[in-house]
Amino acid sequence: MINLILFVASLLGGPGDPSANAYRAAARRINDLKHTRLDMRFDYRHRYLYGKEWVTLAPHFNPTDSLRLDARGMEIKEVAIVQNEKKTPLHFTYDGRSIAIRLNRSWRRTESYTIYIDYISRPGELKFKDSTMRKFNSGLYFVNPDSTAKGKPVQIYTQCETENASVWFPTIDKPDQKSTDEIRMTVPAKYVTLSNGRLAASKDNGDGTRTDTWKMELPQPPYLFMLAVGDFRIYHDHWRNIPVDYYLEPAYAPYAKQIFGTTPEMIDYFSRILHYDFPWNKYAQIVVRDYASGGMENTTATLLNEYVQQTPRQLLDAYYSKGQSTIVHELFHQWFGALVTCRSWSNQAVDETFAEFSDGLWAEHQYGRDAGDALRAHDVQIYLKTKSVDTAPMVRYHYRNELDMFDVLTYYKGNGVLNMLRNYLGDSAFFSGLSHYLHVNAFKNAEVDQLRLALEDVSGQDLHWFFDQWYYRAGHPILDIRHRWNDTTATETVWLRQTQEGEPYRLPMAIDIYSGGRKQRYMVRMENKLDSFSFHASSKPDLVNVDADKVLVAVITDHQSLDEYVFQYFHAPLYLDRSQAINAAIEDPSDARSQEILIAALNDPYYGLRINAVSALDMKNPVIRNAASPILVQLIHSDSNHLVKAAALSVLGKLRDREYMPVFKEALTSPSDAVRSAAGTAVGLLERN
Ligand SMILES: [Zn+2]
Repeated sequence: MINLILFVASLLGGPGDPSANAYRAAARRINDLKHTRLDMRFDYRHRYLYGKEWVTLAPHFNPTDSLRLDARGMEIKEVAIVQNEKKTPLHFTYDGRSIAIRLNRSWRRTESYTIYIDYISRPGELKFKDSTMRKFNSGLYFVNPDSTAKGKPVQIYTQCETENASVWFPTIDKPDQKSTDEIRMTVPAKYVTLSNGRLAASKDNGDGTRTDTWKMELPQPPYLFMLAVGDFRIYHDHWRNIPVDYYLEPAYAPYAKQIFGTTPEMIDYFSRILHYDFPWNKYAQIVVRDYASGGMENTTATLLNEYVQQTPRQLLDAYYSKGQSTIVHELFHQWFGALVTCRSWSNQAVDETFAEFSDGLWAEHQYGRDAGDALRAHDVQIYLKTKSVDTAPMVRYHYRNELDMFDVLTYYKGNGVLNMLRNYLGDSAFFSGLSHYLHVNAFKNAEVDQLRLALEDVSGQDLHWFFDQWYYRAGHPILDIRHRWNDTTATETVWLRQTQEGEPYRLPMAIDIYSGGRKQRYMVRMENKLDSFSFHASSKPDLVNVDADKVLVAVITDHQSLDEYVFQYFHAPLYLDRSQAINAAIEDPSDARSQEILIAALNDPYYGLRINAVSALDMKNPVIRNAASPILVQLIHSDSNHLVKAAALSVLGKLRDREYMPVFKEALTSPSDAVRSAAGTAVGLLERN
């Protein structure tokens, strides 16, 4: 799932909720799902699904004569056991949440049995404590089923994570169950359908309906089961010999390639870095209306929010947009989530954290290291600023509601933590470790310990300390950095102090010393609350760059001078090196050294930093205005990024200087909405004068 849900999680439960401290064990496994066969029709008027199910199971370990299936708010008409194609009714009780079934005899784990259930799913009649819970936990959604909203498509789709599959078919609705499946749907013939796996059969019934049969021959957890029905146009693409399909509303179908066209490249890239080819026999993406989340990684059939649907004009200004991020995120889940699934919701760190992390991987591959670093830095900053979450560790077995696990810790802190792990092990060992984790746990479930073991196995290093402090402990280090030069001994001493409460973090890091025109890198390991490190240098360093790879998830106070920041901006290589220098300049805008940074940053290689610098210019200051104006004109003429052009136009426009009218007029002819809009405002300001 993509993280729109983060903002909702905080609404769930509340202080004083008695379930807040409940221990959330992984469900006891008495029976295991093996195969799920469904035959379904839809009642648009009542928002019902009429289902027949044949579910095959086997006892997990001990023999058992009973079975409990999750089934929420259904009408259960018949429960029977199927033997030699003959149905024998079984005794069952149903309490609106689960069906307790007495089997015809005791079954052993070496045997499997098939239960038949005739049922009606009624999602609209489920009771919820508020509309937020209804929005996220209804399982089966009917969009405009009576066609009363003019121009709005009629759609049906499902959203099962976390435990909402059991709204539309009886199942053991837990992530550590896996089942192959066959889903047969009878729908109005004018609509197309989508589900997991391959379309095995499609039969016109001659009565205005069609029956499609989808088969999923590899096992997946119930929360990744999906179906969708509606008026969609399908664009067929491929990666190697695997179909890659894009399902869009007819109006957006002509732009399918612009919206989704990089998907095969993404599949290729992730297959390569994971040393694990895309594991499924197709990959489809479908955009639906009124969807509560951003996207859902249903195995082979990702469901996406309508924000992904954009016209080429909108895409022109989107760059690495929320839509692109969502496409990447859900795709990466096909390995981390669908192939290897969290054992319980407590271990979202092996699902959602990786999906969030993939966003930066793709960005750096496609747009360069700065783009990946910018995404990761954004996540880490949001985590560090969200103080309320700091009392819980990332992996935790106590929470109010499963959706609470889809939070700032899982997505944002986790992203930063994975990045540290990657940096510590190095790309080669890190990605080989991920590959090993996928191969060992494929089609099974895992917890964070499986990840640690795989990385230890490949790297040959103990990683308990890392996982203990980052995954199982709440909070983060607060790090104070000071350093001093001793002329007599020609030594630079760096003092690192951790000021957070509790145990010190073990922090391996790089320190780059820039002295006498060269850079020397030292690898150090902070172990105590206060550590100091001394380095010889030929002359007093121009810059001591602590955490030189800029990966620590920590609140860092570095007592640097503006001189050092100027040096850092021009000599240290990374996005965060330059971003920190720009921020220091923004704090002290009247200083000439700040102006030097900001003027230089107008031509920063990363567009996001160019925009930061443009927006921070104090154009009332004549020195800045004189230096910046020609650069802004140049950006408007020739920057490769429309958003930079638009930012420059809005700053220059506020000067209300007629001299720039030709620049603004020319910008009015830009293909970019953002540029034309900013130019229009600039022209408007002048004409009002
Ligand atoms: Zn996700």
